[in-house]
Amino acid sequence: MSIQENYNDIKSQLPSGVQLVAVSKTHPVSAIQEVYDLGQKVFGENKVQEVTEKYPLLPKDIQWHLIGHLQTNKVKYIAGFIDTIQSVDSEKLIREIDKEAGKNSRTINVLLQVKIAAEESKFGLEISEAKDLFEQYLSGEFQNIKITGLMGMATFTEDQDQIKKEFLTLKNLFDELNQLKKLETLSMGMSDDFPLAIECGANSIRVGSAIFGKRDYSQ
Ligand SMILES: *Cc1c(COP(=O)(O)O)cnc(C)c1O
Repeated sequence: MSIQENYNDIKSQLPSGVQLVAVSKTHPVSAIQEVYDLGQKVFGENKVQEVTEKYPLLPKDIQWHLIGHLQTNKVKYIAGFIDTIQSVDSEKLIREIDKEAGKNSRTINVLLQVKIAAEESKFGLEISEAKDLFEQYLSGEFQNIKITGLMGMATFTEDQDQIKKEFLTLKNLFDELNQLKKLETLSMGMSDDFPLAIECGANSIRVGSAIFGKRDYSQ
């Protein structure tokens, strides 16, 4: 299927109120422009260098989300334009984002990335760490960021029960924090598991290959 067919197919499956973040990592600016021209305004990238290269070449009303692991020393390169950083996994990082957002006279939206997968390799905060950071945020610690929600990635497995369990863990935390202060975004679900994520309460999904096709990392 073409990018256009893929995109329309996914859009047609989304209940109203579910945001689609089109994950364009490894794909050229021309492909992003094509999806933009279909009406998509929110794009996700996982690397600082890639998003800083693409940003100047594309329409300025795109909302860029960083969804990959972010090193503290690279925050300064994206602080001037990034809409949302979905991959906030430490207090050190949130402090740096707050500082750099301030320097740019901006407010940057952040999602706390919570470790829900059984796999060792996945980045993310433990649930207790996420709660602590949120408490600090509520106490007025950070002035130039807005914690708008949570992000999580499920284990890479065929086991639907396992994935569901992990998604529901994040949904529970979302509900708990949402009682303390209204949150907007529960980001979970990718090309292979977004229908299940939505069933489990996701209102934002991050979809790459199901729109743009397979990624080629050889270039
Ligand atoms: C690459 C990536 C996605 C999209 O993955 P697909 O399987 O291509 O949809 C979503 N979230 C994160 C954090 C990613 O790095």
